[in-house]
Amino acid sequence: MNLKEAYDSAKKRLLAAGVPDADLDAWYLLEYAAGISRARYFADPDRAMTEEQAELYNDCIERRSARVPLQHITGVQEFMGLEFEVNEDVLIPRQDTETLVEEAVRILQREKSRFSGRRARILDLCTGSGCILLSVLNCCGLPAEGTGTDLSEKALVVARRNAGKLKIPASFVQGDLFGALESAPERFDMILSNPPYIRTEEIGRLQEEVRLHDPVMALDGRDDGLYFYREITERCGAYLNRDGYLMFEIGCDQAGDVAGLMRRQGFADVKLKKDLAGLDRIVYGRYSKED
Ligand code: GLN
Repeated sequence: MNLKEAYDSAKKRLLAAGVPDADLDAWYLLEYAAGISRARYFADPDRAMTEEQAELYNDCIERRSARVPLQHITGVQEFMGLEFEVNEDVLIPRQDTETLVEEAVRILQREKSRFSGRRARILDLCTGSGCILLSVLNCCGLPAEGTGTDLSEKALVVARRNAGKLKIPASFVQGDLFGALESAPERFDMILSNPPYIRTEEIGRLQEEVRLHDPVMALDGRDDGLYFYREITERCGAYLNRDGYLMFEIGCDQAGDVAGLMRRQGFADVKLKKDLAGLDRIVYGRYSKED
């Protein structure tokens, strides 16, 4: 079978299985299975696939038809221009989350005179694949050091592997939010988190790729979806330097609630930022309380 025939029949199979963006996914999986670039495909679409490539492609299309996420098949997701390894132990990094990274980098740059002569210290709670922490460290252009925490030891295995592959030094510690740090209490200039924020009762209505393949632990924000925002906002005072920042990714209907929680805990300049789709996505503020 040649490349073009294989692609056309794969696309049909994905369409028949109701896979969203069937044409794109058939394409990405062809790149993955045949190890070719788009340019090479168009230079010679009649080139025969080897038996091994055809078998691998068939296998990939079968799994994708069963709604296994594309990224679990290829094992990677691009985020902030970096390639992150992913598997079923971590949430697949979402493009929306790049808004949090971009805003964090902008604030670190703006505040850089505060860190002169030392490293900026960054904490990422519920780090998952480590995508937020590692890309902030990579993009901020300042001497900085970072710690990521997660309740899941399996997620941290992935985060540590990503740090190693990308050659971005960071430490990853297991534990329940700040509980991961208790052995060595320390303060940070910025705390970031994209915590689980879906209401428990909504999880069953999410698309199959998310509901069955992302870790439930990375999705479930309990009854009202706000559990982690409450816990983090109430407890972070002991871990933030004065005028340090707390920055959250939020669900698009949670801005008012999360901003309210932050103001009640002594945060100033609480701001909201939308994602590229125009939905509320980031809430952040400066910790101005004396303690
Ligand atoms: N921080 C990780 C991400 O944004 C994981 C988030 C989570 O598990 N809820 O991709």
